[in-house]
Amino acid sequence: MSREIQIIRSACRMCHGVCQVLIHMEGDRVVKITGDPESPISRGYICPKGAASAELLYHPDRLTHPLRRAGKRGEGKWERITWDEALDEIAERFSKIKTESGSEYLAMSQGTGRPYSEFTMRFANAFGTPNFVAVGHVCYMPRVLSSQFTLGQLPVTDVYGFGGKDPECFVIWGCNITYGGGADGMCGGMIKRALKKAKRVIVIDPRRTKPAEKADHWLQIRPGTDGALALAMITTIIDEGLVDHDFVDNHTVGYEQLVEHVKGFTPEWAASITGLNAEEIRSAARTYATTSPACMLWGSAADASASCFQTARAQLILRALTGNIDNPGGDVLWVPPEEVRQRSIFMNPDQMGGHFLPPEKKNRVVTAGKIALEAFVHPPSFWNSVVTGDPYRVRGMWIVGSNPLLCHTHALTTEKALRDHLEFTVVSELFMTPTAELADIVLPAASWLETDDVANLHKIWCVLARKQVVQIGEARDNKEVMIQLAKRLGMHEAFPWKDYHGYLDWVLEPGGMSFEEICDRGLVAGHMRYYKYKENGFATPSGKFEIYSTLAEQMGLSPLPVYREPKLSPLSSPDVAEKYPLILSTGARTKVFFISEGRQIPSLRKANPDPLVEMHSDTARSLGIIDGDWVWIETPEDRIQMRARLFDGIAPNVVSAQHAWWFPEEGPPDYGWKRSNVNLLLGDAAGYDPETGSECLRSSLCKVYPVNAE
Ligand code: SF4
Repeated sequence: MSREIQIIRSACRMCHGVCQVLIHMEGDRVVKITGDPESPISRGYICPKGAASAELLYHPDRLTHPLRRAGKRGEGKWERITWDEALDEIAERFSKIKTESGSEYLAMSQGTGRPYSEFTMRFANAFGTPNFVAVGHVCYMPRVLSSQFTLGQLPVTDVYGFGGKDPECFVIWGCNITYGGGADGMCGGMIKRALKKAKRVIVIDPRRTKPAEKADHWLQIRPGTDGALALAMITTIIDEGLVDHDFVDNHTVGYEQLVEHVKGFTPEWAASITGLNAEEIRSAARTYATTSPACMLWGSAADASASCFQTARAQLILRALTGNIDNPGGDVLWVPPEEVRQRSIFMNPDQMGGHFLPPEKKNRVVTAGKIALEAFVHPPSFWNSVVTGDPYRVRGMWIVGSNPLLCHTHALTTEKALRDHLEFTVVSELFMTPTAELADIVLPAASWLETDDVANLHKIWCVLARKQVVQIGEARDNKEVMIQLAKRLGMHEAFPWKDYHGYLDWVLEPGGMSFEEICDRGLVAGHMRYYKYKENGFATPSGKFEIYSTLAEQMGLSPLPVYREPKLSPLSSPDVAEKYPLILSTGARTKVFFISEGRQIPSLRKANPDPLVEMHSDTARSLGIIDGDWVWIETPEDRIQMRARLFDGIAPNVVSAQHAWWFPEEGPPDYGWKRSNVNLLLGDAAGYDPETGSECLRSSLCKVYPVNAE
C-alpha cells in the first residue's frame, strides 16, 4: 500500500546556488528532493548534488554524537561524550587559552561561505581573536572587496527580469556554473535560460565549456592572465570610441587618468601574454561594448591569481565604460528585503570588520607582514606561524565545516601544525575527515535538511525559508552550538538571544513575521529599483564609481588596475618551465562534488569515481598516456596521482586537475588524503598577490607522466 507523500518547500544548501526545492516526505523520512517549478529563483532546476541530499542525510557514516579523542592524536581512537560535556570542556579550554596567553591564541576557521558564516565571524570577533582563517582570498572575496572599493557593493548579473529586459550580451568569465550547478547565490538553470535568450555570448575560459561551444567569442585564455585581457578590452573600448559617456562623465571619477594609464595595454600587448589573438580581443571587446544591455558573470577563476584584486577592478571598469551598471539586463546592485535584518557578510561590512574586536587585537592578525588587503587571516602564513611560532604560536583552534588538509595549500605544513603544535583543536563536521582525525573534540553538525533558517548569505535580493524536517542522531546546527558556547564564555553582547529561535525571531523582527509565516511564504524579496546611483550616488568616498580608487591609493596600492604575471609561468620562469612544461590549473568546479564534499555519496561518486586530470590528446600521445591511465602530476613541491581524462577542449600546454580529493572508503586515520591531493603540489614558489595574499591556483607549472612508466 503506497503511503502518502508530503511536500515541503525549502532551499537547498549543498552548494552556493541556494535553489528552491521540494522535499518529498514519506512519514518522517525524506525520500526525494526535486526542483521547485514555481520558484522564481531556480524555476524547477536541481543538480545532482541537490538531488543527492537525502543520501547525505541518511549516510551511515554521519557523525551523530560528540566525540573526544581517546588515544594519541591522529590514532583514530574516540570516546562518545554528551553535548554538555563537550561544550563545558571546550569553554574551559578556550577560556584557559585566553587567560594564559591572550584571545588571539585561539583561531577560528571555516571553509567556503555557509549559512553560519555570520556566526563564526561574530564568535571570533566577540572572543577577541583576529585569527579567522578562511579561503576567501582565493575565492569570491577579491571580487567583493574590489567592488566595495570601486562602487560600494558587488554587482550581480540581472537574469530575473525584474526590469523587463534580459541581457542581450552575456559574458561568462572564468565560471562554469551551467556545469557545476551553482555559484555565488546563482543557479546554473537561470544562467542556461538567460544564455538561450541572449543575442551574443562571450566566454573567457581556458577550457571549452558547454556555453563556449555555442559562443560568438570563445577566448581560450592562458590561465592566470585575465587581468591583461581586461586591460586590453578597456583600451579597445576607449580607442574605438565605444565608451558610454553619459555614464562615465556623470557618475565616475578617474576616466582621464585611465585613458593615460592604459595607453600601452594594447590587444597586441595582451596577445603576447594571454595566448589570444589581438583581433579576437578587439572583436570581443566590440561585441561587449555595442550590444546592450550586457552582463558579465564572473567566477572564481581570476580570484586565484597574482593580480586578482586589480583584475576584478578592471572587470568592474569594463562594466562602467559600457554603462552596464545597475541597468535592467546588465549588472545590478541588489536591494535586499526590508522585512528581514540584513546580516549577509557580503552586505554588512561590520561582520567582517571585527565589530566586537578591540583595536589592539586587530593588529595581531597573522599575516607574516605580506598582506595589505584581506578580510581573513592568510592561511599559508597562519599555518606556518603555528609551526614556527613566528610571530607567535596560536594554541587552540575551532574548525567549522572545513577540511584544510585538502583545501589549503602547503598541506604538509598544515598537517604538522594540526598534529604537533596546536594544543587543542575542535572540528565541527558532518563526517569524519582527515582533518577531523587530528582534532581533540569532534562535534556532529546538522545538514541543511536538519536546520531551521532564514537564508540570506548569498542571494541578497531575497531571503528564503529553510525548515528542519529531520533530526539525525544528536547532530546540531552550528549556529545553535555557537550560541550555547557563547553563553558559557560570557559573550552576551554578541549573542544576546535566549536560543537559536530567539535569533531567528530577531532576524525577522523588522517585518513582524514569525518563522512559521516566512516558511509559508517561502521567499521574501526586496523591491528592486534600477539606476539607484542617479539619486543616491555610489557608496564610495567620492560618491561616484571610482575608476581611480582613492581608497586603494590611501592604502598604497595602485589606484588604477595593473596586471602581474604569475611568478611561476612559461614567461616569468622559463628555467622552471623547461623541467615542468605544462601549466597546472586546479579548482575547476565539478558536476557532483562541492569542494572536498560528496566523495562518500554513492550516486555522486559513481559519476566521478576517481580524481581526474584533463589533458589534450596531443599532449597525452606525446607522453605515452591514454585515456583513463593513472598518471603522476609533479611540481617542484611534490607529486600526486590522478587518472588522465583526454579532452581536446583544453590547450595542449595546460592540464586541469580536480581539487580536494580524498577517499573516505579507505577509512581512518588517513583516508588516502595524500595520494591525489592537488594542494600538496602548491607552495610558496608560485607567489602571492601582494594585495590580498591570493595564490596562483590556476596557473602553476607541472609535468605529467604515466604511473606505469617507472
Ligand atoms: S546548484 Fe547547489 S543549491 Fe542548487 S540544487 Fe545544486 S547543490 Fe543545490
